[in-house]
Amino acid sequence: MVKAIVGANWGDEGKGKITDMFAREADMVIRFQGGANAGHTIINDFGKFAMHLLPSGVFYPHVTNIIGNGVALNIPVFMSELDSLKERGVPAPRVLVSDRAQIVMPYHPMLDAYEEERLGGSAFGSTKSGIAPFYSDKYAKTGFQINELSDDSLIEARLESICAVKNCLLEHLYHKPPLDPKELRDELRRQRDLIAPYVGDAATEIFAALKAKKSILLEGQLGALKDTDFGIYPFVTSSSTLAGFGCTGAGIPPAEIKSVTAVTKAYSSTVGAGEFTTELFGDEAEKLRRLGGDSGEYGATTGRPRRVGWFDCVATEYGCRIQGADEAVLTAIDVLGYLDSIKVCVGYEIDGKITDKFPVPVKLAGAKPVYTDLPGWKCDVRGEKDYNALPAQAKRYVDFIEKHIGVPIRLVSTGPRREDVAVRKV
Ligand code: GDP
Repeated sequence: MVKAIVGANWGDEGKGKITDMFAREADMVIRFQGGANAGHTIINDFGKFAMHLLPSGVFYPHVTNIIGNGVALNIPVFMSELDSLKERGVPAPRVLVSDRAQIVMPYHPMLDAYEEERLGGSAFGSTKSGIAPFYSDKYAKTGFQINELSDDSLIEARLESICAVKNCLLEHLYHKPPLDPKELRDELRRQRDLIAPYVGDAATEIFAALKAKKSILLEGQLGALKDTDFGIYPFVTSSSTLAGFGCTGAGIPPAEIKSVTAVTKAYSSTVGAGEFTTELFGDEAEKLRRLGGDSGEYGATTGRPRRVGWFDCVATEYGCRIQGADEAVLTAIDVLGYLDSIKVCVGYEIDGKITDKFPVPVKLAGAKPVYTDLPGWKCDVRGEKDYNALPAQAKRYVDFIEKHIGVPIRLVSTGPRREDVAVRKV
């Protein structure tokens, strides 16, 4: 049985914590898209970890962790994440990297940074991890699948051809030093040897696990509103963040995904540029940012302050629907305990008309939020595990959101630690 755990919003919803929690009962956890451009924060018995590339099942020795073919594999980041687990006493996890995964080349982060520099004020706010150049090359068929690294003549010929094109850009557009195909070849060989012990036929392993009725988790990165097609284009990521892409990004038969859990946070946050309808500014934003997450809303990969705002039912209903969610998890309800009253966005006013349907990107810029005010609960609920023991106003907040997003909220997360969660009967 395959369960997908994905984001209903812009990412940073707390998927890492929820995947880590579900992973206890799972046999396999699979990353199927994205790369090291976003982080999952996980707090468990070993300490606090910001994982970028490794699946969130790495803390359980019984879990097989798979980097699927759809992932942008940055080999140095992968190796250093594995090393950091070892240094901090986590038993060596079982990790398998798909032999069809493609690798982030040393020039991808470079090109990402140069392009953001060129765009100046209209930059995307990229994490500069090379994700957009990586996926551009993958679909332009100028990338490298890991299995291809065993063929030296293939590497050399492809690098010659790639460098001819990239050096044109580097020299004439970005005015930066050119790439040297020989240096790149040596670096690729070095990386090939590092990754070799972890590489295998992941698709066949996943198929065997399905046959044996194992429990499999698909772990999404970012969220529905960052999906290339359904997100807030062009301020999206360069791979699909949707549960359905798990089939393509891991090699899972479509009918095998039996459950989709959309994770959404009790308030909104995002990093990077793009429309963010319920955004807060000034002191109000600063307070929420400081109290948010486990130690403030600052990006797990970049350390950048996240933009924060009120919960957005319009965006979240859409996010859950596009994900195909059959249940939702509402995280970080504990963060809102300081507020006298809490705004929730229930509609957008666009061109003088009010709608509760999330618009296409071109209409989003003019959208004004329509809010309902709900009473706050003015107390600390951090760590509460009994849903019934939550204050009536907090339960009313959850009921209100559930009604508007149209998906049952089965779990409410009350703190960043693995055990801070209350089960809600629905
Ligand atoms: P992910 O990429 O979706 O896993 O999200 P991140 O890890 O980037 O961001 C979520 C942040 O919220 C992290 O700092 C988590 O430790 C924290 N977090 C997750 N669940 C809760 C919760 O219920 N309460 C609080 N206060 N923090 C939470």
